Amino acid sequence: MTDIDLLLRDNIRKLVPYASARDEFSGTANIFLDANENSLGSPIRDQYNRYPDPHQVKIKELVSGIKGVPARNIFLGNGSDECIDLLYRAFCNPGLDNTIINPPTYGMYEVSAHINNVEVRRAMLTADFQPDLEKMASLVDQHTKIIWICSPNNPTGNAFHHQIIEMILNNFDGLVVIDEAYINFSRQQSFIRELTEYPNLVVMQTLSKAWGLAGLRVGMAFASEAIVEVLNRIKPPYNIAQPTQELALKALAETDRVNEMIRDLVALRDKLAAEITQLPAVERVYPSDANFLLVKIDRAQEVYRQLLNRGIVVRDRSRVALCDDCLRITVGKKEENDALLSALRTME
Ligand SMILES: *Cc1c(COP(=O)(O)O)cnc(C)c1O
Repeated sequence: MTDIDLLLRDNIRKLVPYASARDEFSGTANIFLDANENSLGSPIRDQYNRYPDPHQVKIKELVSGIKGVPARNIFLGNGSDECIDLLYRAFCNPGLDNTIINPPTYGMYEVSAHINNVEVRRAMLTADFQPDLEKMASLVDQHTKIIWICSPNNPTGNAFHHQIIEMILNNFDGLVVIDEAYINFSRQQSFIRELTEYPNLVVMQTLSKAWGLAGLRVGMAFASEAIVEVLNRIKPPYNIAQPTQELALKALAETDRVNEMIRDLVALRDKLAAEITQLPAVERVYPSDANFLLVKIDRAQEVYRQLLNRGIVVRDRSRVALCDDCLRITVGKKEENDALLSALRTME
């Protein structure tokens, strides 16, 4: 069992959090003179003169219903990127602690670690893009606080084997953060169902991918109450803006529409993968559990440039270790995929 208190930085354990006006007042009132808002209103819509709910109670209620996780186990961030930063700030002492990532993977784990002056240790994925347990074990020491597991992984597109992730959870006493940004496109089960078994597990999801709301900036972290409580204490009090909260509420009522988009995207992905595989220059389309494909192709950088000349931008990952000659291609609308395919077919 992990004692979250022992993992925390001293300054965070001792922190007296900011108490906002909205925190200190509970009850009913209709005249609000407690938060130095503009009582006359705003030049746009009236309600934006008020600070938003710092605890995002209504959103968490909906998320709780959708995910089957109690609201007290849900944290909302200004994108997953805020969750990543807050986890470092809570648990990793700058200049002392370290974190383990499994490259090639999402870049923010490393950038955010550097911003927080946290040492990054790299356990490259194996050739079949799975975590290298032995390598990871060799990197862990008493100052290793967080292991980042991105599954399905960006940019490789595959989900990691459930048993491999479970091995990590069972053998590491620090935090294990599983980033499930792409889980809705995957055949693999979410680790959300295993939160009750692992007090050191954090599962991150986001409204940016399957929910189609990258512009909104809402990231979700699911974890034990102890971890959620820490994140709540150190976050900026009003980290989710009022219009964002309103739009998120609207979107979360549309689960049927979202499920339909997920089905459509998965079908488009599988069709696109089958067609790209046919192209002579393509060496390999890696299996995808996400809404993008990693494609190994002759002269990847040249292909990237020629696509750009035709107004199609993909992600050049050809200089990333284990991804040599690879492009990462987001699944588009049918017309977009067709345009991509015809561009690829007519390339010199
Ligand atoms: C896109 C993506 C996210 C989403 O981040 P937000 O800040 O929530 O938009 C998180 N993790 C991974 C691996 C991603 O690819």
